Amino acid sequence: MIKCPNCTGELEFKPTDKQVVCKYCGSKFDPKEFDEKVTMSKENEAVATYSGKTYSCSQCGAELMTFDETAITFCSYCGSQAMIESKMMKQNNPDFIIPFAKSREECIEAYKKVVSKSLFTPNYMKSDVTLEKFRGIYLPYCIYKLENHGSITNKGSKYSHRVGDYQYYNDYSITCDVDASYEGISYDLISKFYDKFSTSIPFDYHKKEEFNPNYLIGYYADTVDVDSSVYDADARGVAQRDASHRLSRIREFSKYGCSSPTVKLNVTDKKVGMFPVYFLAIRNKDNKTINYAVVNGQTGKVAADLPISFAKYLIGSLLLSVVLFFILDNFFVILPKAVCVFSAICAVLSLVLSCVQASGLNNRVNHTDDIGFMSKDVNKNFVKNKVGIFRYLYKEIIAIIIPIVALILNFVYDGYYYGASFIALGLVILSFRDLVKEHNMLVSNKLPQLEKRGGDEHE
Ligand SMILES: [Zn+2]
Ligand SMILES: [Zn+2]
Repeated sequence: MIKCPNCTGELEFKPTDKQVVCKYCGSKFDPKEFDEKVTMSKENEAVATYSGKTYSCSQCGAELMTFDETAITFCSYCGSQAMIESKMMKQNNPDFIIPFAKSREECIEAYKKVVSKSLFTPNYMKSDVTLEKFRGIYLPYCIYKLENHGSITNKGSKYSHRVGDYQYYNDYSITCDVDASYEGISYDLISKFYDKFSTSIPFDYHKKEEFNPNYLIGYYADTVDVDSSVYDADARGVAQRDASHRLSRIREFSKYGCSSPTVKLNVTDKKVGMFPVYFLAIRNKDNKTINYAVVNGQTGKVAADLPISFAKYLIGSLLLSVVLFFILDNFFVILPKAVCVFSAICAVLSLVLSCVQASGLNNRVNHTDDIGFMSKDVNKNFVKNKVGIFRYLYKEIIAIIIPIVALILNFVYDGYYYGASFIALGLVILSFRDLVKEHNMLVSNKLPQLEKRGGDEHE
């Protein structure tokens, strides 16, 4: 624990000042200069390390380090209050750090702005947010450097002429020199941090600083639990796709019949950096799922899983329909058959939405797009649940059929058309309730311990 040299008070790194500030006497220190005094005593160690007190979560196994006297009372990943204090832990210094540049207050404001804009967000996502729950955590990231400085050859083929039944093509071998270098493609090294979040809050890698433990004071740090090699293929893919896209814009390739030139890139360097993230985990009312919100501590960008409150949604839609109805009623004579067609269209739209959402839900529930999670041995045996979408879809299908049947039967009495539309729209509302439920599952995470044990948790 690093104390204030003037009064031995508790210190904290203040992002807005970019200074280490004493909470007690207010003295300020430059984190870079301050470091000299601290690390001087550790000269004899071969590898530079930093240390902190470690807490582990007895529910989900997450491990967090703290660098001051404050005890960790809850887990940022599952919200559980069963944190167990373990001993001081030493970690090898990462290669660099992006210090927090936004204060916690700024990030809460940014989060609240996002939440208030989404009308249908349930109230607990807004009211349950307190300063203590927003936790500033440095997450270890792996940063790739990929290069190719040399010559590459691509094949091309172009139609030349035709003789009788034969078509003749000219084959080309297109060789060019490339000077490609990609730096900054990064991945988080924590299996519990959903990969989707790291891509939605990108960091400005160029504003990094040399690692210095003083930036950690007053914050938390997460410990690496994913082997960085699991991202090699993905990083190579990202860089190679970009490179081949750039190459394809060079006219010579298309001129000689090569529409998608490829280039191989090699991982030439991997570095570990600490990236600043404010983390918020809100447990759902049912206590079985959890919603995450993360704010980039460097840029203030927010990524949040926002569930929808069906009650709010229904009231909103009903109000809108009433208004729409009166507007339409003023300008048009609403024919019973048109109402039928309209309700069938609503049902088709709802069906399409359900299908799109179901595939996303499958990915989320089964972590298909989460490389970090899948790399963990404990998660290898993770039971995949196929999301049964057909039990939802039948409502929409009936809602499509009923008005169509009414139209085909060509009733004389208008009441039948209204009746058919009424039933169809009722079914559409019901399937929208399913959609909302699905959406909420899509943006929620099962509590980790429930995923593992499949049982209810006891606190
Ligand atoms: Zn002081
Ligand atoms: Zn936990």
